[in-house]
Amino acid sequence: MFEEFFKANRESANLARKWKKKTGRKIIGVMPEYFPSEVITALGAYPVHFRGTQMPLSRSDTYMQSFSCTTTRTILEQALNGEMDYVDAFVFTTMCDNQQNLAEVFKNLFPDKPVIIFLIPFISSVTLRQEHLKEQIDRSISELERVTGNKFTKDGLKKALMLHERLNTLINNLYDIRRRNPGALSAYEFYSIVKAGSFLPPEEYTGMLGPVVKTLGSMDVKDVADRVIISGITPEPLELTKAFDEIGLHIVDDDLTSGTRRFSKGALKGTDAKSLDNFVFGGSPCSTLFDPSKDRRSYLLDKARSNRAGVIMWQIKFCEPEAFERPDITSYLKENNIPVTSFEVELQMASFEGIKTRLQAFKELMEVQI
Ligand code: SF4
Repeated sequence: MFEEFFKANRESANLARKWKKKTGRKIIGVMPEYFPSEVITALGAYPVHFRGTQMPLSRSDTYMQSFSCTTTRTILEQALNGEMDYVDAFVFTTMCDNQQNLAEVFKNLFPDKPVIIFLIPFISSVTLRQEHLKEQIDRSISELERVTGNKFTKDGLKKALMLHERLNTLINNLYDIRRRNPGALSAYEFYSIVKAGSFLPPEEYTGMLGPVVKTLGSMDVKDVADRVIISGITPEPLELTKAFDEIGLHIVDDDLTSGTRRFSKGALKGTDAKSLDNFVFGGSPCSTLFDPSKDRRSYLLDKARSNRAGVIMWQIKFCEPEAFERPDITSYLKENNIPVTSFEVELQMASFEGIKTRLQAFKELMEVQI
């Protein structure tokens, strides 16, 4: 049932090249998070999201500091190795310094591929924020029109919104199934399904997701112990999720930028200022967005209590947005008697023995505490 998703993750570049050859449509590389892919679909192109890989680093170190996160460094490594040759243009958001730096490096190293920046504002005035987002999307659409050679039309947008709404609903259904029945699939299977959506054309991905969600939703519910929530940016390296499965730590929910933070926003409803604002800022709290009206500490506390779960902070080394919030969140959860731990990864890691030992110890601690 999951092999197609595993294959999409293993062979993402080849699948994208084949798709491009077959359809003749343009491919836009999206550097996550929070650019509305709906506008790319509306322009007849296909968004491919890059979140870093497990490949060893060599050439990227010439262009990026060794204290940049390995999400950005491995993305650059992919580009330098020709693994993004099929991409016609790149879209970056300004979610962190590392990503902004990467955008500048891409502009210099790949001058023949347009780099479009979608600037997410760090301001407290909601009105100004909305006006700014509107300017950003209008400019991004004009640039994408030039790249794709297609006009942005109301009809194209309407069809794209319907497709992405369906996709978003299916992913949220998948999350609901896991909350209700965490024994239905392993962590590796779950995050392989979610990750495959980064690479597959939305229409194809939606077609694959539908039957899987239906089958999983009809399975008998098995309650599980040793329940955890993972919190961070993205569950990479994906292989590490297998350690949770081997140890018997059940991930029942997450607080990830590539997970519930993204999908809790819902799909884009339109390109007016309010819809855009709701798309970017409407979901659960995120370390990469400035929104003083949200408190990630109490959000995580409620999530842990309602799921009867401990919290594991999945930290990517040199990820500043997460590193700044982690100490405060950890203390707050401990004060409220929620078991919490953290580990740090680099995306090119191949051995997880040290982390597995810590996860095993955390499982034993939870068995006493919960
Ligand atoms: S949010 Fe963190 S992991 Fe993602 S690109 Fe920025 S620094 Fe790297």
